[in-house]
Amino acid sequence: MTEPLLQVKHLSKFFTVEKNLLGQTTSVLKAVDDLSFEIFPGEALGLVGESGCGKTTVGKMLVNLYRPTAGEIWYEGKDLAQMSARERRSQCRNIQLIFQDPYGSLNPRMTVGDIISEPIRINHLLAANKVDDRVGYLLNAVGLSATYRNRFAHEFSGGQRQRVSIARALAMEPKLIVCDEPVSALDVSIQAQVLNLLSELSDEFGLTYLFIAHGLNVVKHISDRVGVMYLGRLVELAPKRELYNNPLHPYTKALLSAIPVTNPAYRRERILLEGDVSSPIDPPPGCRFASRCYARTGCIGCACETEMPELVELSPGHFVSCYLYPEVR
Ligand code: SF4
Repeated sequence: MTEPLLQVKHLSKFFTVEKNLLGQTTSVLKAVDDLSFEIFPGEALGLVGESGCGKTTVGKMLVNLYRPTAGEIWYEGKDLAQMSARERRSQCRNIQLIFQDPYGSLNPRMTVGDIISEPIRINHLLAANKVDDRVGYLLNAVGLSATYRNRFAHEFSGGQRQRVSIARALAMEPKLIVCDEPVSALDVSIQAQVLNLLSELSDEFGLTYLFIAHGLNVVKHISDRVGVMYLGRLVELAPKRELYNNPLHPYTKALLSAIPVTNPAYRRERILLEGDVSSPIDPPPGCRFASRCYARTGCIGCACETEMPELVELSPGHFVSCYLYPEVR
């Protein structure tokens, strides 16, 4: 059986919100709470959830921008937390991040050639006389002309800038790329082009993706498996087909109902969520979705409000965290 490229075990990230006069923490924001998943080589795992659910925080922990509060991140069988700073820096080369905002993530004072070649030069990945050829190759690989290397970021459209960001991530020759909502800032017509490009690059460069998005429609075309997050917790995880054809968690069903249908003859019933979103600051002890859950009448007397449901595998590869299913405790 193939070993996972990345394993995340019980990962948590809490931010201190308030301290008392003695400097003791009195209030914490639980951005990510006890998250576990695996990503296999060559796979694209989609991570979906609304703004503030902690998906970006997960991505930032994977690329060492945030230090986890608890839990482990294993890459190719090694625990990143146990590595020396030097080992971890060199390992981080293998995991790159593409940011959501192609306008803010590129240095406006550098040419595109310098932006792409900077990580190659700093990490001594190539001899100096080969760097220019590599920059041209990477620009071509992302669908841009090599002659653009002397231009600045402001001379490009949003889609072209995101292509430059992808070329910069590829410059480090990573195995895993964390794509943090890479198309949400782009026009709809450009989104499909960038998604297709990422798919093609996966085959060409042998890449593995963690693809973060806030809607299930975006990850549908690029993901092999999809995880759904709600307020810092993973509530459902399944192979793509299984999740779209047989969603189990009430929140996943609501997200699916929000995807527009292109066939006017087909009508899908929209599930509108009511109620307030629970606060991630000192959240309630039970299911995080309880305050908005329209399906709770099916589980009267259950522990929805007092105990957190575990993430349980109900069928091969299909995990869910909801008391509607008797296997979940
Ligand atoms: Fe709804 Fe209860 Fe399931 Fe939570 S555990 S999603 S509140 S039915």
